[in-house]
Amino acid sequence: MKNIGLIGGMSWESSIEYYRIINQQVRAALGGVHSARSVMVSVDFGEIEKLQTEGNWEEATRVMIQCAREVERAGADFILICTNTMHLMAEDVQSAIDIPLLHIADATARAVRAAGLERVGLLGTRFTMEKDFYRGRLETAHGLRVIVPDEEGRALVHRIIYDELVQGKIIKGSREQYLEVIETLIESSAEGIVLGCTEIGLLVKGEDVRIPVFDTMEIHALAAVDAALGRYDLG
Ligand code: GLU
Repeated sequence: MKNIGLIGGMSWESSIEYYRIINQQVRAALGGVHSARSVMVSVDFGEIEKLQTEGNWEEATRVMIQCAREVERAGADFILICTNTMHLMAEDVQSAIDIPLLHIADATARAVRAAGLERVGLLGTRFTMEKDFYRGRLETAHGLRVIVPDEEGRALVHRIIYDELVQGKIIKGSREQYLEVIETLIESSAEGIVLGCTEIGLLVKGEDVRIPVFDTMEIHALAAVDAALGRYDLG
């Protein structure tokens, strides 16, 4: 079994889910008392969120590269950045290390394709919904069509992530607001919904939505287990 490297803490509310899913899946695959080999470097999200808000992506990239090198030095065979947003610097991180990076958008696109879908609605932070690093990868590298909410919807989805979800607040009214935004994406012809922020799955579940939902946190964690067991091609 390969050693899974994780950069976590963004936020720990979802990192803990990565850890749980990865270990549960390894036990399901190998049985008995088996668990995953892994190493995690976990950041202070307060520092990361400040850099994001300031738009200081250069410093944020430096921090992610430093974390990736620590994970590599600790013996990981491949690495996951346990957040969608911080894939903004995924290429820089990959260039700075010698182990492969398992990109969350690649794993997600595979899951969407495996479900036979092409047009997806994307929810995430403003950075993920608006910048090209994520939707561009889904569209250009994987041939998907990506629909995002309008300005008002994007502001709402972003605010709830930072004011509630990364702080462990799961609020029923916010779930209803998310479901309204999702409904507008369905009306705009989305065939599936990508929960493109690793905490959204804590608020919205597949059964809440009338079309397929792709939870990037779960998909990424399951892909990590497949990679550890030699069932996912890391390229
Ligand atoms: N975990 C979230 C994501 O997947 C947001 C936290 C962050 O900005 O990294 O994008």
